[in-house]
Parts: sequence; structure tokens; C-alpha cells
Amino acid sequence: MVKRYEFLVIGSGIAGMSFALKVANKGKVALLCKTSLEETNTYYAQGGIASVTNQTDNFEKHIEDTLFCGDGICDTTVVNKVVKEAPRQIEELVGWGVHFDKDATGNFDLHKEGGHSEFRILHHKDNTGAEIQESLVQTIKAHPNIDVFDQHFAIEILTQHHLGAIVKHTTPNIECYGAYVLNIRTNHVDTFLAKVTMIATGGVGNIYQTTTNPLVATGDGIAMVYRAKGIVEDMEFIQFHPTALFHPGERPSFLITEAMRGYGATLRTRKGVEFMQKYDPRGSLASRDIVARAIDNEMKINGDDYVFLDVTHKNAEETKEHFPTIYKKCMELGIDLTKEYIPVAPAAHYLCGGIKVDLDGKTTINRLYAAGECSRTGLHGANRLASNSLIEAIVYADAAAKHAIASLPSLSWNENIPLWNDEGTSLNEEMVLITQSAKEVGQIMSAYVGIVRSNLRLKRAYDRLEIIYGETENLFQRSVVSKEICELRNIVNTGYLIIKFALQRKESRGLHYTIDYPEKNNHLSLY
Ligand SMILES: Cc1cc2nc3c(=O)[nH]c(=O)nc-3n(C[C@H](O)[C@H](O)[C@H](O)COP(=O)(O)OP(=O)(O)OC[C@H]3O[C@@H](n4cnc5c(N)ncnc54)[C@H](O)[C@@H]3O)c2cc1C
Repeated sequence: MVKRYEFLVIGSGIAGMSFALKVANKGKVALLCKTSLEETNTYYAQGGIASVTNQTDNFEKHIEDTLFCGDGICDTTVVNKVVKEAPRQIEELVGWGVHFDKDATGNFDLHKEGGHSEFRILHHKDNTGAEIQESLVQTIKAHPNIDVFDQHFAIEILTQHHLGAIVKHTTPNIECYGAYVLNIRTNHVDTFLAKVTMIATGGVGNIYQTTTNPLVATGDGIAMVYRAKGIVEDMEFIQFHPTALFHPGERPSFLITEAMRGYGATLRTRKGVEFMQKYDPRGSLASRDIVARAIDNEMKINGDDYVFLDVTHKNAEETKEHFPTIYKKCMELGIDLTKEYIPVAPAAHYLCGGIKVDLDGKTTINRLYAAGECSRTGLHGANRLASNSLIEAIVYADAAAKHAIASLPSLSWNENIPLWNDEGTSLNEEMVLITQSAKEVGQIMSAYVGIVRSNLRLKRAYDRLEIIYGETENLFQRSVVSKEICELRNIVNTGYLIIKFALQRKESRGLHYTIDYPEKNNHLSLY
């Protein structure tokens, strides 16, 4: 079946939903997500959203903190843009019904997180993401121009390639006409024709064995755009969250927010010894890359699977009030965090790179925009400052919406796109192997492309992934399409991109650390 919309939005996190709301008065919108509207990285965000909102803070400080964290390769124009447009986008979120906590005087109750020089993190208790997600979902559902398609999996974006042209990365003026989309309920592939397409498919955490990301984060948008010959950048910069709750077998790993260290929690070895001062004068408040590497190192030195986070010295009632979700989760596992240390270990958390976009959120493919975690704006450079991602997503959704609305009058649907060819077979044995291959990719990426890298490890990962790539492509060509085979294809493609970019970066910078080039190459710094 062919469906026609002015705007096709792939993804129901903060990026996709805010874009949808910003364009919906100008045309019909199809909003897709591959499971439920709520199952997103956005929903899981705990800490909050960074923005300058009080008198003691200012734009210069937020800019400086972001640049320092990005380790010399942030795009300063982008940093200025996001920081300065942040307060207006916060107002927009509030207008859509999002509640941020306030203090007794009626001002925002601001948290301070690792790498921030000021209290500037707006939050809703310790479940800010859920508050944003639920408020936007309500607003989306009430909008008459937005049709929601849950359980709809975008397989490929449509370009001239689907009209028989040979499209390469060097081809000028590649255009996007929409996407082929698998309805997971009916197992049928529909053609969604769109004048404008927005990719907001989120992160890649599930490429790794341990991650804080929900199961939907498999790098689909990045893989789709790369296959369509769009440009992808900075894929080597994967942020491992230093303090995921250590509870083997749980997926996604439960996150202990950075705000807890901002609140005063300290890191200790399993023997109870504080260690962060050895690594950074800011101690437990150092930026994530430093803390994650320090924990990784301490775990390796001591042969431990985890370290401890200690918040026992703080007022118990206050702790429970600030972190009710974490308190409840720990209690479920028999840990009373007001009296006992919390076991934590690093887990894959956030991708700084992704689909290259310009200041208008435009990708290198015409009529195709990207926003949120799947995009690479240049804000984060080599490392993301905590709580800068939700704000980046909505600032860029806004920029893309303005550009898309202005372009809309000159665009039309491409009616020549053929229907999806759904011939093929699938054998049970092959379906079992898809799950096994996905697990293997996780093991390869975690073992060889994790917090500490080397040429040998990356080469080993590359060789192993190549075998799985060959098997997967072969299976994809022969079999009936399914969510499982598409996701496997996407994690293999995205894993390959991470390895490729990591091999190319012959230095250690920000989140990319390799023992073969332990120093930063200052010639590559932008400022
Ligand atoms: C545990 C956790 C805590 C975090 N805490 C914070 C924080 O405190 N502050 C902060 O700024 N950031 C935080 N982050 C990061 C932040 O939440 C994410 O970067 C951000 O929410 C990403 O939003 P998004 O809209 O880009 O993608 P998401 O919210 O992940 O949404 C992705 C959407 O894309 C859909 N999708 C994916 N592939 C397909 C496909 N093939 N077809 C159809 N739909 C598809 C999914 O179904 C989903 O709807 C945290 C992340 C995690 C995991």
C-alpha cells in the first residue's frame, strides 16, 4: 500500500515528537516508531536537560563547559547555537505540558552534573525523560494532523536508487522520497511517500553487550542513511556511562544518574577505597570519559566486575526524595542505598557521532533531516557534556522544522517509486541464527571496541564482523523481511562504522582511547 504525507517522522523520542509538533500545522505528519510510542531513550533519561536559566549562570560558562568536555573538536558555531537557543526550547517544552521541579521561591530547582561548572540541569525528580516523553505523547495524540504508526519499522529510505539509478557517496543531489516501512502487526511492507523525511531513530547502545539503552536503540537510522550514501561522522565517540547498576543479565542496564555524584556520592573500589582523586582533581565529578576509564582501570587492576558508589554519608530522607526511582530499584535488589554502597560498572550509553547535519538539521541527502542521538551536529565533539543531548535534540528539531516548512511549497511526492518486492522465504533455523549473530556482534564490540582500544583489537573486531556481514547480507537478500533481520543488518552496519572511524583516528581524544596512540594529536584540534 502507498501512503502519502507531507512529513514522515521516523522515531518517537524527543527529537521526532518535537519536530512533528513543530511542523504539524503545515501539513499531514506520519510519526513512526518500531515498538510503542514510549519505548525510547528519551523515556529513560533520568538526570535532566541543560540550559542557562538563572542569574549566577551565563551562556559563556555553558559554552566553555561544553567545549572543554568536547576535547578540542566541538563545532563552536553549533555550541553557541544550542546553548543560546536552549532557554526558548525549554519554554516550548513547558508549553507542551512538561513539568520541571521548582524550589520554594518558584525558580527551577537546578542540579549540577559532572563537567558542569554551574547548577543548570532542569529536572523532574530523577525521571525527567519519562516526564518529557509522556507530556509529548499526550500532545501528539491530541493533534489532528499527526497520524501515529506504532509497531512500524522503517527498513530503507527511498532515493533515486529505488528508481534504478546508481547512487554513490559522491553522487550529487541524492534525494529522499520517504521510506519502505514494515508493519510488524501484519508483516506487510508499505511505501510511505513524503515530501520531507525526518530521521530521529536514536542511539546504538544495543550494538554492545551491556547498555543503558532500551532494545530499540540499534542504529537503524544511521545504517539506513549510510546505505543510502549519506555522510556519517564521528562514530568512534561512544560514551560509556560510568555508573550503570551492576546486575548481570538485566537489559537495559539500570542507570545511576550522574546527578548522584553531583549530589555528593563518591566512587570506591570493592574494598571501599576512594580512587577518583588519583585520576582527576575534580574527583568523582570529573567528566564521564575520565570516570569511565578510571573505573575500567580499577576493575582491571583489582580483577573486579564492579566498583561501588557511596551515598551513605548524605541525609537519608533527602536522598530518597531526590532519587526515588533509584532508591526503589536498589531496594528491589535488596540494597538500601542510604546504608549500603551501590555496585556499579560502565555500560554503552550514548553516541556523539552519527548522521552529519548542518545548522538547519539537513543531512547530505536532500529532503532528509536528522535530529537527536542519531545525528552528528558537532555539538559534542569527542565527548558529550552530561544532559546536553535532550537539549540538542529539541534545538535541532526546531531548526529542521523551520527549514522544512520553508522548503515544503516547492516539493512534491515521487510517484515512480516501485512497491517493495516481498518475495523470499525464511527458514526457522536461519531465524534462530539471527539472534545468535546479534549476540555475537555485542560480544565482539564489547571485547574489542569498548572503553580502551588498540589497532589489534579493532582489526580483530573488523575481521569477525566481516564474516557476520557476509552472512547477514546473504540472508537479507533471500529471506522474507522481518524486524529481526533488519535490526541485525543495522547493528552490523553501525558496528562496522564505529570500527572504521576508530581505526582512522590515530590519537586518543575524548571518548576514543587507544593504547597505540595514547596522546592527543594537537594538529587535529580545531581551537
Ligand atoms: C538511561 C539513559 C539516561 C539518559 N539520561 C539523559 C539525561 O539525563 N539528559 C540528557 O540530555 N540525555 C540523557 N540521555 C540521552 C538521551 O536520553 C537521548 O540521547 C535522547 O533521548 C535521544 O532522543 P531521540 O529522540 O534522538 O531518540 P529516542 O528517544 O531513542 O527515540 C528513538 C525512536 O526511534 C524509533 N526507531 C528507531 N529505529 C526505528 C526504525 N527502524 N523504524 C521506526 N522507528 C524506529 C524508536 O522506536 C524510538 O521511537 C540518557 C539516555 C539513557 C539511555
